[in-house]
Amino acid sequence: RLYNEVQDLKGNIRVYCRIRPFLPGQSKKHTTIEYIGENGELVIMNPSKGKDSRRMFKFNKVFHPTSTQEEVFMDTQPLIRSVLDGYNVCIFAYGQTGSGKTYTMSGPSVSSKEDWGVNYRALNDLFQISQSRKSSIAYEVGVQMVEIYNEQVRDLLSSDGPQKRLGIWSTTQPNGLAVPDASMHSVQSTSDVLEFMHIGLMNRAVGATALNERSSRSHSVLTVHVRGMDLETNAVLRGCLHLVDLAGSERVDRSEATGDRLREAQHINKSLSALGDVIFALAQKSSHVPYRNSKLTQVLQSSLGGQAKTLMFVQLNPDTDSYSETISTLKFAERVS
Ligand code: ADP
Ligand code: MG
Repeated sequence: RLYNEVQDLKGNIRVYCRIRPFLPGQSKKHTTIEYIGENGELVIMNPSKGKDSRRMFKFNKVFHPTSTQEEVFMDTQPLIRSVLDGYNVCIFAYGQTGSGKTYTMSGPSVSSKEDWGVNYRALNDLFQISQSRKSSIAYEVGVQMVEIYNEQVRDLLSSDGPQKRLGIWSTTQPNGLAVPDASMHSVQSTSDVLEFMHIGLMNRAVGATALNERSSRSHSVLTVHVRGMDLETNAVLRGCLHLVDLAGSERVDRSEATGDRLREAQHINKSLSALGDVIFALAQKSSHVPYRNSKLTQVLQSSLGGQAKTLMFVQLNPDTDSYSETISTLKFAERVS
């Protein structure tokens, strides 16, 4: 059944929408979410503009504000498993700051397993499955973590500190997979991964914005490399998984942002639209895929297109104040799905 689910991916691009709940203290009366269907339908409305502002969107799946981390992962799991079969997979979260990207990818904390986001659950799964296959396949797992900030790639796990800037590629593996020139750390268990991710998150650049003090103006990419050797035939298979927490997609008011903030915003816009262009080209089966337009798409290239499988989480805030950002997020999603 798992096998079929993976094979059935239409165009290998899957788009899930996740709506975060109202936070404590937020008024629950004013929401733009009109309707969530069983089959991925979503209807949005701006209450102050009335029924004419109703718009319908369609996804592979829409998660309710009450959906748990576990429920979200159940629909992600088949993709993770395919990494052990030699597929490349890219999972990323897109949305405005405060819409739950980090919640979905990492979770609000790592101390309680229930809170774990896709990242930890994915690694946990990979280790469990590789254990269960260990009499026939020997797996090795390595992780890298980089941040892309202002079109510069930085190693978040480097022992020289996060300031080290990277070229994009150092090694091209025998199967043609390019690996970012970032330190690679071999991991044996989920707790090893938790440790590295903790270091990585601490090294991530954060800048204060009006929306969210801790909002990140950078993309973070956790790359998991899996190498499996068949113990009978010695055949080697490789898969890689990119787990991406994107910078906030909100448009920055040009009249307000100046200097560093404006430059950050321009770089973020550029890289997110480059990502949109790549996925759009793939969805259209275009012969030219414009990977080279941003560092983000270059880093993710091995897991976008070809046989690779891509999952995008479209993250939404439910409140009416976010209406125009919600619409612009949904338009991005519509274009690539
Ligand atoms: P982003 O990374 O997109 O800026 P966060 O993941 O930091 O957004 O989420 C913003 C706030 O909303 C955080 O306090 C987070 O814990 C909370 N939150 C987001 N999604 C959920 C959810 N599904 N359930 C409960 N709280 C959530
Ligand atoms: Mg975040």
